[in-house]
Amino acid sequence: MKKFNRCVLILGLLPAMFFLLISFNLAQSLKTPALPGGLKAYRGDRYFQVIPRIVPADSAITVRIISPFEKFPKPGYRYRFRYTPVGRYALQTGWKEAVAEESIPEDNVFEITRYFEGEQEHIIRIEEVDSENRVRQVGTFHLYSLKPDLFALRPYKGDFHLHSFRSDGHESPAYVAGACRRIGLDFAALTDHSNYAASLEAINAFKDLPVDLRLFPGEEIHPPENPVHFVSFGARESITDLIQRDEIAYRKEVQAIMDKLKSVSGGVDKYQYASSVWTFQKIREKGGLGIFAHPYWRPGNANFISYALVDYIIEKRIFDALELISGFGWSELQEVDVNNLQVNKYLEARARGLKLPVVGVSDSHGCEDSDQFGRYYTIVFSPTLELKDLIDSIKNERSVAVETPGGELPRAYGPFRLVNYAHFLLRYVFPLHDEMCFEEGRLMIEYAGGNQSVLERLQLLQGQVRKYYETVWAKETK
Ligand SMILES: [Zn+2]
Ligand SMILES: [Zn+2]
Repeated sequence: MKKFNRCVLILGLLPAMFFLLISFNLAQSLKTPALPGGLKAYRGDRYFQVIPRIVPADSAITVRIISPFEKFPKPGYRYRFRYTPVGRYALQTGWKEAVAEESIPEDNVFEITRYFEGEQEHIIRIEEVDSENRVRQVGTFHLYSLKPDLFALRPYKGDFHLHSFRSDGHESPAYVAGACRRIGLDFAALTDHSNYAASLEAINAFKDLPVDLRLFPGEEIHPPENPVHFVSFGARESITDLIQRDEIAYRKEVQAIMDKLKSVSGGVDKYQYASSVWTFQKIREKGGLGIFAHPYWRPGNANFISYALVDYIIEKRIFDALELISGFGWSELQEVDVNNLQVNKYLEARARGLKLPVVGVSDSHGCEDSDQFGRYYTIVFSPTLELKDLIDSIKNERSVAVETPGGELPRAYGPFRLVNYAHFLLRYVFPLHDEMCFEEGRLMIEYAGGNQSVLERLQLLQGQVRKYYETVWAKETK
């Protein structure tokens, strides 16, 4: 009987609990919305400008914190700041705790000179003190200091595994390209299934136009009787066409690779492995980057490729980059998060000393109403946005894979040093970058739809990210 009463009570409470849960979620979603790529600009970065934010490590730099909306100083107030090195790296400056140091703003600008030690993030908190010693936080500002090798590079956001309606996607190649800029990418390559021409169609749609998004050729390659999916990024020619033009020649060359193979691990299909070696070789010969796509994709809960083949391909490192983070529809999740498998496989392989360049991609099949598009991508740390530099940088392990699942904080995966820096960029640099890209992308989609009059507006927007970055990175001091 008692048990029954308790049941009734719990059942009676259920609607109330449900209501509380809903209102909690609603309250969460009513906060300032995230940008299309899932990032969010911090308040301090809306109200103030910090110039520069990324500085060379081990040098004294003057940082200007500018307030365009609120007047500083106010009569009768004192100002001070507290400094914290996030990595607690302070061997030379002997920093111990965030003691308050006086700062006198002039014409709405706080000028703070500091020695930024080592490679790490730094926090500066500015406080306002009134005549009765009451303290108000003016703002918290984050900076990053980098060693010369990384300071000389720039981060570029890109996705090179995308589908249009030239294979099984929803939109035209030009639409997808515009949408890529709208979600804040700096470069992209369409990689339709067995279709290289679609990527050229996207490039040609915006050729010689005032557009800052860089588009490169690509395709997803499916050699006959080989379950491995290959993404070719940037190759001068189509590998699919090569196979289809002369399948006999393809089979002969694969047979020659098989003949040379002494033995393979147990469970590895010799033909599938040799065909994979051939495909990656061809991509490389044509100047592209060969990506081992979604190794743990498991349609119907069964892995598409044998575990033995995945292991062997990783062990022999016949690819240029591993698709570490793959986009997938969250509602279609089949009980296993394939990215978790890919990440742990990567960590294990790297711990064994294997060099493993990584990428993150959306593998998106639609830019609207998609959980994938814009949520999975790669940050490449490269000297320029030229194809050769991007490919070299990825091959030299200067890239991280990023995911920003809905409502969650962005996560980067790859070498720790780059991940740490990427997290700073995702919080304090990319949100405003993404916002600038949004309007360009929107106009690109309009142009793709036939509205030529937007070209004038695109012209005005050109170079805005470059100008923003000129304020983010300190000018070279030496
Ligand atoms: Zn695929
Ligand atoms: Zn795909």
